Amino acid sequence: MAFDGVIGELQKRNDNYVAEFSESEVPGKAGTGVLLITCMDSRIVPHEIFGLKIGDIKVIRNAGGQLNQEVEKDVIIASHLLNCHTIVIMPHTKCAMASGSPESIRSKLTEISGDKFSNFNPSMITDTRAKLESDVNTLRNHDQLPEDVVVHGCIYDVESGKVSWVIP
Ligand SMILES: [Zn+2]
Repeated sequence: MAFDGVIGELQKRNDNYVAEFSESEVPGKAGTGVLLITCMDSRIVPHEIFGLKIGDIKVIRNAGGQLNQEVEKDVIIASHLLNCHTIVIMPHTKCAMASGSPESIRSKLTEISGDKFSNFNPSMITDTRAKLESDVNTLRNHDQLPEDVVVHGCIYDVESGKVSWVIP
């Protein structure tokens, strides 16, 4: 089936990708043993940032690059079963999730769409560095992760492309 619009464009580009594809033997376990947790921000392209190729790392993304109970479950699976013994948490500068309070987001949404957002409670970040420290510590002290797992925290600068390893 052929689509119009943006999906049609993606479909075309994927056809080109398939025509060049030669990675059918790449294993599903991450080659570097690294699991990266980062934001869904469209300016972050993890494989380009670190000069990686297909099969090298696993990436979990959400709004803000934040740890939560669901992410923790994925980290447990990746570390025990999928060879990821190095966990990197990487929030970034100019993150929309660090630009306001849950109340401010809620009132913006309510303004646009009415009161169906009255109970909406997004996980906003008040202090990027403090939240990162807290998330790193949560994983470092997690009793369901293997003993040999190491956890690092860094912040990606969307204006320079620089990764600062603030919690090495
Ligand atoms: Zn972000």
